[in-house]
Parts: sequence; structure tokens; C-alpha cells
Amino acid sequence: MRQTLVAGNWKLNGSKESIKELLAGILDGMSEAKTDVAVCAPYIYLPLVDELLSGSKIGYGSESISEHDSGAFTGEISGSMLKDFNCQYAIVGHSERRSLFGEKDADTANKFAAARKYGLTPILCVGELLEEREAGITEEVVSRQLDAVIALEGIAALSDAVIAYEPVWAIGTGKTASPEQAQEVHAFIRAKIAKRDTAVAEKVQILYGGSVNGGNADELFAMEDIDGGLIGGASLKAEDFLAICKAG
Ligand code: PEP
Repeated sequence: MRQTLVAGNWKLNGSKESIKELLAGILDGMSEAKTDVAVCAPYIYLPLVDELLSGSKIGYGSESISEHDSGAFTGEISGSMLKDFNCQYAIVGHSERRSLFGEKDADTANKFAAARKYGLTPILCVGELLEEREAGITEEVVSRQLDAVIALEGIAALSDAVIAYEPVWAIGTGKTASPEQAQEVHAFIRAKIAKRDTAVAEKVQILYGGSVNGGNADELFAMEDIDGGLIGGASLKAEDFLAICKAG
């Protein structure tokens, strides 16, 4: 039985004050959480998150990472810098990074490698656009996104990673994939990995992301291959986030 994980992705949101309030609220309700819990914060707030969460059971990390170690890469943040602030996770390949910032499968794979190099657990996001689902190529798209990482890092690397299946049409839209639709893709991902390595397939946590909330988390997390969620909008209010952490 895999442990479930609920990870928040705050995106471009928050302030010192709101983050203090949010984390105090989550810490307060943690005794009722049934899942492991983590938050991924904007880079600038990671020192604050580190200070507020050190010694707690809540994991934390970044929303992206540079593929480079150091050097002339203005504006970038490296894996060693994230480690300096005790991060455990780095999201890579989020659909917003892919669509708004032009990150390709190969960039995501390099970021995945950079996270592992510094002992961070990459949360690798994969998922299809609405037109790709409608064209019946969801599995092809998800396969291509996974293959870029497997080709660079090898199948065993997925055992130190978390995968998040996030259909792009469900992110921030209020439209959730049905538990059956999500399970179908999660099972496909696990079977694809199992063809290369059954132990890795059995171990890797596959989260679902896309408009998860307190009302739908239970039935999503009850599906065999769904091991928790990556949460955007509902991770910004302690009460909403905790309602999801109590599911599963
Ligand atoms: C996300 O951005 O990863 C996400 C799942 O967002 P939301 O929960 O708001 O759909």
C-alpha cells in the first residue's frame, strides 16, 4: 500500500502575512490529516517556509528549479540553493511552465535530473491538453512526457520521484476529471513503468491534479492508482487544503 501525499502548489500567490496565516492554520489541523502533506512555494518565500515548518511533519519545496548548477543564468535558482533552505521537493514540468514559459520535454527532463542531483524529490507533472484528449492521444502525450525523463535518467530514477497526472483542461478550471477518467490514465502510467520495472511501478506515487477540492478528493483518492493530489487553488486556504488532507 502506497502512502498518499497531498502537495500544494501556491503558484504566484501569497505574502509574508498570508503565508504565516496559512501555515499556522495548516499546522493547527495537521493532527487530522490522513495523508502526507507538502507545500510548494514561490522561491522568495522558501526561507520563511523553512523557518515556519522546520521540525514539523509538513514537507516543502519549490515550484520549479534551474537545470543549471551555477553560473551566468540570471534569475535562476539552483538545486543547491533549494537544498540550502532544506527543501525536499521541486515541481518540474508543470503545464504552466510548459505553456507560458516554453519549457519543452527535454527542459523538464533536465530539471528533473537537477532536482535529483541535489537530493530533492521531483514532482514530475504530465498531462494532456483538451484538444489532445479529444483527439484520443492522451496516452501518447503522457508517454512522450515520461519518456523524455526516462531516457535521460533511467527508469529507476522514478523511484525517487513523484509523478503528478494533471490534465491541462482540469487545472484551475473547476472541471475535474472523473475518478474513472483519472484512474484510467494513472493505471496506464503505472503499467507503462511496470513494463520496464515492476518494483518502481509499485513504489512510485502518482498524484492527480486538476480542481481537486474537499468535495471530490475522497472519491479520487479511493481509486487504486491515485496516491493523492497536487493542489492549486484549494491549497491557498488552510480550511480548504486540510479538507483534502483529511481524504484518502
Ligand atoms: C495545479 O496548478 O497544479 C492545479 C492542480 O491547480 P488547481 O488545483 O487549481 O486546478
